[in-house]
Amino acid sequence: MKQILPGLWEIDEIGDVVHCYLWEWSGGLTLIDVGMPTHVHALLDALTAKGYALHNVRRILITHGDADHMGGAAKLKKATGAVVGCHSVEKVLLEHPSKRVPASLLLRPVFALLRFTPQFNVLPVTPDELYVDGQQTPEGFTVIHTPGHTPGHISLLHREKRFLIVGDALNNRGGKLQLPPPLFTPDMHNAQRSVWKLAKKYGEDFDVMVFGHGPPILQNGGRKVQSLVTQIFSSEV
Ligand SMILES: [Zn+2]
Repeated sequence: MKQILPGLWEIDEIGDVVHCYLWEWSGGLTLIDVGMPTHVHALLDALTAKGYALHNVRRILITHGDADHMGGAAKLKKATGAVVGCHSVEKVLLEHPSKRVPASLLLRPVFALLRFTPQFNVLPVTPDELYVDGQQTPEGFTVIHTPGHTPGHISLLHREKRFLIVGDALNNRGGKLQLPPPLFTPDMHNAQRSVWKLAKKYGEDFDVMVFGHGPPILQNGGRKVQSLVTQIFSSEV
């Protein structure tokens, strides 16, 4: 595991295609996203190799219902006894993963076929906790509803420690802070508005950003999102 900040770890044992995180706090451990269905064993092994008991994982927070983020949530819930939480709007995707479709009509049959491969064969999971925008979680997160990539996408802000778990509201692929890919983002308009919200409402509240895709930003995260927003909305005028 790779430490990002005291208490915040990237579980890099699952590789580099997608990132998931572990937050160690006074009440136990919280996983934020769990990678693809094929990552379950690597993830469990990483926890035990670090000396954690699996039952110390108290909560699994899912930023959104994509195969590469909620992947093995059902199996991990069973293995750890943790509760699973997501935004109330995202419940439907966790319970019916096949309802997630790409923005492009042409890609829809490809997506349907991919579900027969182990990497994308997501088992449904029933969330135990449903969140709304602005809600506080016991581990110190403010839930920020950031729809667009999916309807119930959330980012998680830890105000006290000044970090933001972005999910796929933004990517940092190739070292470039950018909007999520349009092909897989059915509502780009809302995705833009979500980034605007992160910048305007919370831009002063975080320095460190960690992403579903791409390396972390360790300094001036809020300011970087603010300048991206200036670019996005000035190019629209
Ligand atoms: Zn993703």
